Amino acid sequence: MQGYILHMNRARDEDVVVTILTEQSLETLYRFYGARHGMINLGFKIDFESEMSLKSNMGRLRDVIHLGFPWMIDYDRLRLWQQFIALFYPHLSQSENTGSFYFDLIDHAAHQWDRQNPKRTALESYARLLKYEGRLQDETRCFLCDRPITDEVSLIRALLPTHPGCSHRLSVNKEGIHELYTGLSTLFLSDTEVDRLWYVLLEGL
Ligand SMILES: [Zn+2]
Repeated sequence: MQGYILHMNRARDEDVVVTILTEQSLETLYRFYGARHGMINLGFKIDFESEMSLKSNMGRLRDVIHLGFPWMIDYDRLRLWQQFIALFYPHLSQSENTGSFYFDLIDHAAHQWDRQNPKRTALESYARLLKYEGRLQDETRCFLCDRPITDEVSLIRALLPTHPGCSHRLSVNKEGIHELYTGLSTLFLSDTEVDRLWYVLLEGL
């Protein structure tokens, strides 16, 4: 099986409980510490086997192979990737059958991660996720005061539009937001605006 490591939790000694998003589900498996094991980390794509045990209701993670991406040698890019991937665990941890959407989304992002500013890839993936979940709205009303937005717009969590004065956030240009909502693209957002929205994204999916 293949999957992305969404979460790692230290258990006793050096053992870890690893949560992996596969093409169909979220798997939580136990990994015994062993010097022969290769290092694994948050956000890694791995090929693995899960072995059920009579002694525990949690399967055992074994035969792990790290399926690396060339950009992983770039520390900054890897750090951004791990920040992005960490957002999925709280979002999906209550789901068992996730379907293929989230795996495909992450896999697509991984292949795009060194093609442009990775924060752009993260935001475009986020817009796609919101659309899939029916949470993406191309609204011209402020989420906080419900009045129309005529000039500047600031986004809050779930990319909801607000007046800058209502959310106390710096604004982003309306054309750029419209393109993000409708074309799922950051093409008309500057790097500064992308940075602003990256921090909105880090608040959670
Ligand atoms: Zn408002």
